[in-house]
Parts: sequence; structure tokens; C-alpha cells
Amino acid sequence: MKKNYLFSFIKKTGNTKLGDGMSSTYSSSNTCPNACPFKNNGCYCSEGYYTRLHWQKVDNGQRGIKFDDLINKIKLLKPGSKLRLNIGGDLVGHNNNIYKSYLNKYVEACKPLKAWTYTHYPISKGNNLQLIKQANKKGLTINVSCETEHQAIQSLDNGLLTALVVKSTETRKSYKLKDIHGNTKATVLICPQQIKNDVTCSNCMLCYDRPKNIVIGFKAHNATQKVNKILENIK
Ligand code: SF4
Ligand code: SF4
Repeated sequence: MKKNYLFSFIKKTGNTKLGDGMSSTYSSSNTCPNACPFKNNGCYCSEGYYTRLHWQKVDNGQRGIKFDDLINKIKLLKPGSKLRLNIGGDLVGHNNNIYKSYLNKYVEACKPLKAWTYTHYPISKGNNLQLIKQANKKGLTINVSCETEHQAIQSLDNGLLTALVVKSTETRKSYKLKDIHGNTKATVLICPQQIKNDVTCSNCMLCYDRPKNIVIGFKAHNATQKVNKILENIK
């Protein structure tokens, strides 16, 4: 049986990381795949004060709207608008499998926009890989969220845009990602917003469009001790 998924749409976000002129969405926490190691365990969204409060209100229905209402709101955005899907939550799916029907609606609504998101749905499961590739091809950018360099290399080998969570203690601004043979597969670039002033998603947009051999590294920024420990344990 399908769960009751809820969403929120924020036309003009006040999120300082996103910056001016951005819209964003949240999806209820039951969209998060069990494969995500941060689920109920250090997730940046549930550990951030304002993001947690808003996400809880989406979950309990106070601010939650149905999926078709979300899609209708996205469709009202002007062509070329910048949209970050899922500040909290993930693509809609169950048992680590992305639901194609929901993703198709996202893709259709986001076609005229500059829209992107990230996913923890494993690319090894079911049709996830094909679905992510198709969405990317049709203009909705889905970054594959990884926690290990091995996962990141698998994602790159599948031609996918890749993001990598790194420890809060990472001091490099960028570094080469190498496979076990020492071959360089990509450059990990730490999210510029985390290391420079005056950078926002709105004026960066690398998560929407970039060469595939650039992996965006996100330094753990909420619940850092917990996340650093998780990253150490799953190396
Ligand atoms: S899938 Fe994303 S939003 Fe959901 S628990 Fe994991 S990191 Fe948090
Ligand atoms: S890399 Fe750019 S677009 Fe991506 S999260 Fe960082 S600032 Fe935003």
C-alpha cells in the first residue's frame, strides 16, 4: 500500500544558502529511502533548526500539500526559474525503489525550469539507475548522493552527476578522486557556498549543471560529530 506522501512548495525561499530568486520544495520524511545512512541519524535537514521545524510541519500535515498540488505549483513558475527540489526528503519511492509515475510528473513539470535535486535511492536497486538517467536527459538534474569514494566512482562510471558527503574536518577546497589503480576519475570540489563568502546556489548553480567529472563535496555541517563517525564507519 502506498504511504501518504506530503510536500511543501516555497516560491521565494528565505534560505540563505540558496540565495535570491530561488524556489524550493520539501517532501515528507517517508520519501527518504532506508538506504540513506543519515535517516533519523544525523540528516542535515532534521538537524538544522528551521529546516527541521518546517519539515516536521510537512510531515504532520500542518504545511503539507498533496503531490498533484505540488506539481501544479511548480508548473506555475516562469520558464527558466531556479528550483531546488527536496531541501528535506527525497524522490518519491518505497523500499529503496524510485516510483516512476511520480518522477515522470516531476520531470514534466520541471522541463522549462532550471531544477535540480539529490537522491539517496541506490543506483544498484531496481530501475533507479535508468530512471535517474532519463530524468537527467530530460532536464531535471538528479545528483547521486554518496558517502564513500567507492560509491562516487560507481556513480561516475554510470555517467551520473555525483555528490559526496565529506567530513566536517576536510580542509582541502578541491582534490582528485582516484580509483584503486591510482587513476584520476574526477575532481572533488567542495561546495563553494561552504568555503567562500557571497556564493549561493542561485549564483553558483553547479548542482544543476557542471561537467560530469566534477563531484560536489559537501562538508558535514549539522550534527558534525555524528556524521563524521558515520563516514568513518562506512569507509
Ligand atoms: S534522504 Fe536526504 S533528507 Fe532524507 S534522511 Fe537522507 S539526507 Fe536526510
Ligand atoms: S555547489 Fe553550488 S549549487 Fe551546489 S549546493 Fe553548493 S552552492 Fe549550491
